[in-house]
Amino acid sequence: MSGSRYHEDDGSGMVCDDVRYDCGCREISHQFHDGSCRTRVTRHDGRVLVNQLSAEHAE
Ligand SMILES: [Zn+2]
Repeated sequence: MSGSRYHEDDGSGMVCDDVRYDCGCREISHQFHDGSCRTRVTRHDGRVLVNQLSAEHAE
């Protein structure tokens, strides 16, 4: 894999995992304290391929 990665974990449930590829594609994955997580994938041309927020406690 080529690109850069940013990973952060505060140790209590909050996790950020962001990847930026050399071509410009970006992939972010954030998990929050309440268990919900957000995923977003943006292609190098700016098109958003995935943009979802899943809440574990929904419903
Ligand atoms: Zn790309």
